[in-house]
Amino acid sequence: MTTDNQPATDTLHDQHGRWPQAESVEDFRHNLAAVQARIAAACQRVGRDPASVRLLPVSKTKPEASLRLAYAAGCRILGENKSQEAYGKWEAMQDLPDLQWSVIGHLQTNKAKLVARFATEFQALDSLRVAEALERRLQAEGRGLDVFVQVNTSGEASKYGLAPNEVAAFVRTLPAFSALRVRGLMTLALFSAEAEQVRQCFVRLRGLRDQLRQQAPSGVSLDELSMGMSGDYEIAIEEGATVVRVGQAIFGARAMPDSHYWPVAGDRAAG
Ligand SMILES: *Cc1c(COP(=O)(O)O)cnc(C)c1O
Repeated sequence: MTTDNQPATDTLHDQHGRWPQAESVEDFRHNLAAVQARIAAACQRVGRDPASVRLLPVSKTKPEASLRLAYAAGCRILGENKSQEAYGKWEAMQDLPDLQWSVIGHLQTNKAKLVARFATEFQALDSLRVAEALERRLQAEGRGLDVFVQVNTSGEASKYGLAPNEVAAFVRTLPAFSALRVRGLMTLALFSAEAEQVRQCFVRLRGLRDQLRQQAPSGVSLDELSMGMSGDYEIAIEEGATVVRVGQAIFGARAMPDSHYWPVAGDRAAG
């Protein structure tokens, strides 16, 4: 989507591990405003309305005190990638009833019960078994859940998500689950400083969405594209992201390398 007369947007992955820790409400306000400004600039480059992009702050691994500062700075939904950790934080923060939770990481069926209880959104739907488990638990709770289908656009074995060619058939099965409100697709791009390779992952997700939207079963909306994180959200917006999931640029660097959160090949049962 970039044009020839503009320099191509770079990834911010080289800043990885150097994001300063947010330690006050002011720090959070400052970081949120800085990210929003970059979102607006990316939108402007490609003629999009900044209101068409939702910023999802990602609080995984951060302590409750830090989440409370984010709340005080205005955050009303937080993304967490592990259901157990998210559930614990939700329980501890019951005094903030308007704080919502988005689970953005792979789910094991035995954790569906937790997610059905507290989450408003689940962005990593990648199997029929998880859809069935969530549906059953949501029915029992009398709740619904916004869901995104996770797609593996990088081809890396270490990434969860359906292969692009499996998504159409999977989406066709989803109207059977009345508690799941299908909103769109989600992906994690290749983790690379090579901006063009990262961009291709986003282009792939958008192309798939555009193609599937024409044949989407009734009740299934594929309007949303959740793609882009601290290192690459500007590129994702240039390629059509409607949700960007940003952790470190708001909360500060995480102590552990990303391989700690995303299992490497051969270790996919963990997490
Ligand atoms: C951690 C995480 C993010 C955010 O990554 P940052 O580098 O902290 O911005 C986004 N999406 C998923 C699925 C994640 O697990």
